[in-house]
Amino acid sequence: MKNHCFLLICFLLVLLLACGPISSLPTALPAVPTASPSPGAPPPAETPVPAPTPVQEFGIRTHPDGPLYVGDQVSFEVVPPQGFDVREKSVEIQVAGQSLGVQPFAPFGIGGRTQATFFWAWNTAGLEAGPHTLTLTLHPDGVSWQETFTLRPAAEVPSPEPDARWESLSSDCCIIYYITGTDAHRDIEILAEMADAEALRVEARLGASFGEKIPLTFLPRVLGHGGFAWNGLYVSYLDENYAGHATRQVIHHEMVHWLDARQGGELRPSILVEGLAVYLSGGHYKEEPILPRAAALLELGWYIPLRDLTDAFYTSQHEIGYLQAAALVAYLVETYGWERFNAFYRDIHPVPEGTQSAALETALQKHFGRNLDSLEADFLAFLRAQPVDDSHRTDLRLTVAFYDTLREYQQQYDPSAYFLSAWLPDISEMRRRGIVADLLRRPREAVNVQIEALLIQADRALRSGEYVRAESFLHQTMRWFAE
Ligand SMILES: [Zn+2]
Repeated sequence: MKNHCFLLICFLLVLLLACGPISSLPTALPAVPTASPSPGAPPPAETPVPAPTPVQEFGIRTHPDGPLYVGDQVSFEVVPPQGFDVREKSVEIQVAGQSLGVQPFAPFGIGGRTQATFFWAWNTAGLEAGPHTLTLTLHPDGVSWQETFTLRPAAEVPSPEPDARWESLSSDCCIIYYITGTDAHRDIEILAEMADAEALRVEARLGASFGEKIPLTFLPRVLGHGGFAWNGLYVSYLDENYAGHATRQVIHHEMVHWLDARQGGELRPSILVEGLAVYLSGGHYKEEPILPRAAALLELGWYIPLRDLTDAFYTSQHEIGYLQAAALVAYLVETYGWERFNAFYRDIHPVPEGTQSAALETALQKHFGRNLDSLEADFLAFLRAQPVDDSHRTDLRLTVAFYDTLREYQQQYDPSAYFLSAWLPDISEMRRRGIVADLLRRPREAVNVQIEALLIQADRALRSGEYVRAESFLHQTMRWFAE
C-alpha cells in the first residue's frame, strides 16, 4: 500500500501524502533594489548596512495540475530558493488590481518544505480565456515580480469534468465518498463490500469497534504511495494506479490507523503507529512474511538503527522503515504478549528531550525495565534467528527498488504526488466547495503515460513473483531518469 501513510503529520494525520510540469517551476525574480546612498552622502553612522539581497529565484506551482481552464479555482505554492531567509516574510498575489491574499512562508507537507500556500485563491469563473498576468509581492521587502498564466476555454476541460461531482454512499462500516465518472464510481459496490469486509477484520484484530462510520474517500489519482489517514481515510483508486495494485491492503492499513488512533495514547511514536498497521495488515503493500523479510534487511545491510529510525521515521527509506517497524511490533508482541504491548504502547508520553526515541525509552523502562539499546540487541538476535531464503531477499530488494523508482518518477514528473510535498488539500473542504479538479487532473504527457505503464507492469510482475521481468521493467523506467 502505498504506504500509505504518509501521515501528514499534524499528529492527527496519519498517513501516508504541481502547473504544470516541473519545467515551469523556477522563474526569475528581478534584482532586488538595494538602498544606495546618494552620491557624496556620508554612510549612516549607526544603522547597520543591510546585506544586499541577491537576485533570487522563486518557484511557483499552480493547481489543478496541468493546463488551467476558465472556471478553475486555482491554488498556488510559492517556493523560495534554497537558503532564502523567510523569517517574518510573506507573499501577496494580485491580479487585475485585486489581491488574492497574503500568505506567510511556512512548512508544508510531511517534508516541511518552506513555501507560501494559497488554497483556491484565484476563482477564474467568468474570466476570458487567454493569458492573465499575476503580480507577486514579497512583504515586507516590497519586491514584486509577475507571472503569466494562460486559461484555456472552459469547453475544453477534460473528461469527466465538467459534469464530475462528489457523491457518497453509506455502507455498513463507512460513508464512502467518490467523484462521479471515475473508476471508483464504476466499481463503488465492489469497493463498499471490500471496505465492510476489511473493517470487520480490523475490528477483530484490534479487539475494538469502530463505533461510528468511517469517512472513506476514493481518490482518482495517486498521491504519495496511495493511501493516508487524516480527518478520514483516503485511498487512491484508478485503473492506472502506478503505485501498485493493493486497494484491499491499503484500506486495511488505513483502517488500522483510524481505529488505533481512537484507542488512546498521548504520544504514539510513528515507528509504532506504522509498525502496528503493517503488522496487523500482515504486510505493507501486500500480505508478506514480515519477519523473514525484516531479517533479509540485515543480510542486505539495510537495517536502520532503532534510535535513528524512531526519530526520523518518515524521512528514512520508506519500505525499509515500515518493514522494520512491523518486525519490531511483532517482536514486542511475541515477547510480551498483546496485552502488555498494548498497555506500553498506550502509555508513551512526551519527555523533555523532545524526541520520540527518548519518549519510547522512558516507556520501555517503565513497562519492561529495559532501555532502547538492550531492546535493539535482543531484537537483532530475534531477527537473525529467522529463516531467510532467496525469494525473501529478491522480493524485498525489488520492492524497495520499485518504490524508490516510483518516488523518483513522482519527483521528476508528477511532483504533486511526491509524498513529502504532496498536494493534499482539505478534501472535506473540497467537497463543501464542489471542487474536483485538484484530484482529477494529473500530468498526462507522453513521458507520464509511458513511465506509469512501465511501473504498472513492474508491479504486476513483482506481485506474481516474476522477478526478472519486474527488474527489467524497472530498468526501462530508470532509463527515463538518466536523460
Ligand atoms: Zn500508515
